[in-house]
Amino acid sequence: MIITEEQVFALLELLALTRDTEPNCDDCLQHMAEFAETSLSGKSVPEAIAHIDEHLERCQDCREEFSALKDALGKDIMAS
Ligand SMILES: [Zn+2]
Repeated sequence: MIITEEQVFALLELLALTRDTEPNCDDCLQHMAEFAETSLSGKSVPEAIAHIDEHLERCQDCREEFSALKDALGKDIMAS
């Protein structure tokens, strides 16, 4: 089998994409509560959910969701 240079680059690009663990919105929403609680309590964020922060910076939808969640959590903390 002979592959062209073009195909090699396409393959490399594909590998780079799959290696990239960029979280999607589902992933972000799933870990958002944990992330909000951790960051609000002033603890350091575990590496497992640190990428949520990156996603929030890029994704307006999740940022709005996160902001609403933080407000709700903040009120809970103040009420208790
Ligand atoms: Zn998102």
